[in-house]
Amino acid sequence: MTRRLTPSDIVEIAADAKVSVEAHGWRAKCLQRLVRMELPVPRSFAIAAEAVRAMAQGVMPDADALGALFANGDGLVIVRPSAVNPEWGGPGTVLNVGINDACYQRLIESHGRQAADAIYLSFVQSYAINVARLDPDMFAESGEGALSRSLAAYRAEMDEEFPQDPIRQLTEVLRSMARAWESPTARLLRQAKGAPEDAPLGLVVQQMALAVGPGLSGSGTIQLIDSVSGAARITGRFRGQMQGTTKAENAETLYLTRDERGPALEDAAPQLFADLVEYCRAARVRLRDEMMIEFVVSDGALSIIDALRVQRSSRAAVRISVSLAEDGIIPTEEAVLRVEPRALSELMHYQVDPRAPRDIVARGIDASPGAAAGRIVFSATAAQSSAARGESCVLVRRETAPEDIRGMHAAVAVLTERGGMTSHAAVIARGLGLPCIVGASRISIDARAGVLRAGGRVLKEGDLITIDGTSGEVLAGSAEMLEPALDDSFNQLLTWADDLRDLGVRANADTPEDARTARMFQAEGIGLCRTEHMFFDEMRLPIMREMIFADSPEDRRVALARLLPIQRQDFSELFHIMAGHPVTIRLFDPPLHEFLPQDREGIRGLAESLDLPLSDVTRRIDALSEFNPMLGMRGVRLGLTVPEIYDMQARAIFEAAIAAASSGDVVVPEIMIPLVSARREVEIVKTRIDAVAAAVRNETGQDFTYRLGVMVETPRAALRAGDIARHSAFLSFGTNDLTQMTYGLSRDDAGRFMGSYVQQGVYDEDPFHILDEDGVGELLLTGAGRAREVAPDITIAVCGEHGGNPQSIAFCHRAGLDYISCSPFRVPVARLAAAQESI
Ligand code: PEP
Ligand code: MG
Repeated sequence: MTRRLTPSDIVEIAADAKVSVEAHGWRAKCLQRLVRMELPVPRSFAIAAEAVRAMAQGVMPDADALGALFANGDGLVIVRPSAVNPEWGGPGTVLNVGINDACYQRLIESHGRQAADAIYLSFVQSYAINVARLDPDMFAESGEGALSRSLAAYRAEMDEEFPQDPIRQLTEVLRSMARAWESPTARLLRQAKGAPEDAPLGLVVQQMALAVGPGLSGSGTIQLIDSVSGAARITGRFRGQMQGTTKAENAETLYLTRDERGPALEDAAPQLFADLVEYCRAARVRLRDEMMIEFVVSDGALSIIDALRVQRSSRAAVRISVSLAEDGIIPTEEAVLRVEPRALSELMHYQVDPRAPRDIVARGIDASPGAAAGRIVFSATAAQSSAARGESCVLVRRETAPEDIRGMHAAVAVLTERGGMTSHAAVIARGLGLPCIVGASRISIDARAGVLRAGGRVLKEGDLITIDGTSGEVLAGSAEMLEPALDDSFNQLLTWADDLRDLGVRANADTPEDARTARMFQAEGIGLCRTEHMFFDEMRLPIMREMIFADSPEDRRVALARLLPIQRQDFSELFHIMAGHPVTIRLFDPPLHEFLPQDREGIRGLAESLDLPLSDVTRRIDALSEFNPMLGMRGVRLGLTVPEIYDMQARAIFEAAIAAASSGDVVVPEIMIPLVSARREVEIVKTRIDAVAAAVRNETGQDFTYRLGVMVETPRAALRAGDIARHSAFLSFGTNDLTQMTYGLSRDDAGRFMGSYVQQGVYDEDPFHILDEDGVGELLLTGAGRAREVAPDITIAVCGEHGGNPQSIAFCHRAGLDYISCSPFRVPVARLAAAQESI
């Protein structure tokens, strides 16, 4: 079938032609820009996506229209895909369309036999494989006699001579490319890159500039930036006597710039090289991006045949955007929008070099980004000894508990078999900035035997592994790494982001070290200090346990008296580091099981420190054990049952605030009540805390103010937020627990089946990772709305792990929240994501 073309179906890409990305694709538009810059671009034509779609259905343009695409001279053309977005790929380029016996004879005259052979052979091969769909093995030859054998193979397989009519060749090439775009695999591949279901494809037909032949001939690419580091460096290559699969026998690769390892284009053709560099510079300005230029040299004459955005690593993406804005080529808003927030976390940590080989032994949930390599250890003690020997180690555990904290500090990375995004290991590792993979459910750990089994491989204690917490992959051995890049570009980009955003960003910080990290990343305050985490430290854990284990008021008073100065000191340090920025302190919320010793050794240690018989401790542990600790005596429930605990914390906070004021830091502490489900809980706690404040004012003669707020972590608290807001200066949604309770899904166990749930499409994403907007989000909107109805000025925030996730941050922004709070190492990501939402 032939189709009459409309004038817009095929347009010559001239400076004033009507070419658009939507109608003709990105490549066509880019070529037009190069033409407008008056670069030496061979005559090119754009075939509109509409026409390409018709071709896929067998409706082809007529011969006249196609004939016009061939030039007089050699009459060869190259056909390339032109999707709306270059990332979506497309069918492979086909070169040398139009060659036949007659043209071949002419080429022998003009370019020599070798070049003519190479050109004809490469087209026969590509036509046979891509258009006629013959077995690639039959057309894999090169060298002497290959051309005639390939033509013979074609004849034998197809029962006809190789097509000699250039128009027929072009028709078939266009049809096969149009159809390839519609194939199921191509659709899947581009949809994975974000292409819509009906993504259109344009095609570009360009007259060939031949890269094989007399004099200096060849093809190459050039860019002014290193794709991995983003540093200014001319990179690329020049392949003499080569173009795609067309390769003459005297082919040779040259360096672009002068290089002691071999010949360079810069020496072979200095003027041509200088022109190329100049074209790259001009393209950067006109196309508003770093471009990789594709060029052909034909007997010393330069043609620019294509340009593409430079491929870039995350760090290069930041440098490129910032330098474009600094040079006034793009506005700062656009620089901020051009960098994927997630990419920043790659700059803050070591990363596995994307160019390095990866020997993957297991996969799990990418719980904390960055990569580190070390020797396998199976216990916190072994991790500490390893660190003491100065050896890097990876702590591998079924799951982690407070006892493992010191091991986590000593390790360079953590791997657990169980757990999800908000499990203990994940939260702590993110806080420490340690690469971490959790829920690697296919591994099995035999700590006694000192082995880790993963996918048929057996790794032993002491073996080297690499944890890639960015991808969730465990690699055998020590992978090649890229260093963090917290450079000027990184800081500049975030400064621009801060000027643009209207959603606050605070950090979840429990220790002075966390707080310092938070300030380093310019968090605007602490949005969540989990005070029970202050006692994960080896020296302090026993005091915390003593307090939890006390079964008489007297014993508890003694333990609390020991805790008070420690807490006061902790808060003083936090206030000092945060230098007047708000600090939100959450009263104790110890899910008790996280504080019970896990094994015999731990129980014995506890008995020793409490100076109690083992049997007493065991009995007490039994008495405290809960069937469902996450829904048990946690948070405010502990606060109401044993009110002296919160009294002590409130006192410590107020005394620290007074001390801070005396050294010049004006602090308005924010006290937050966890796991609330009823208004009355808030009233009771508020009454007691007000009483403590009055007592401290009395004793010290100093005045101070504080703000009392509530963590909304239970569905009921969200539904009753109106009621609760009457007693609260702020509400902070603890979306970890809120997700756990809304789904009825254990945050510590969900990792076991999350992968399969997401794979089966039950959940789009892990809801502990990305906020579930439909369910948990609705509770959040309902809660925020009800709270604002009664208290329009109330501060509303999110402090669950979702606060560091760009997609969830976008939701928080739409919900009109005041700020989000996330792990310190996610603060830069959050600052950028929040800015992008505000633009
Ligand atoms: C939460 O539940 O979202 C929260 C921030 O508290 P935690 O993770 O300590 O339970
Ligand atoms: Mg919680």
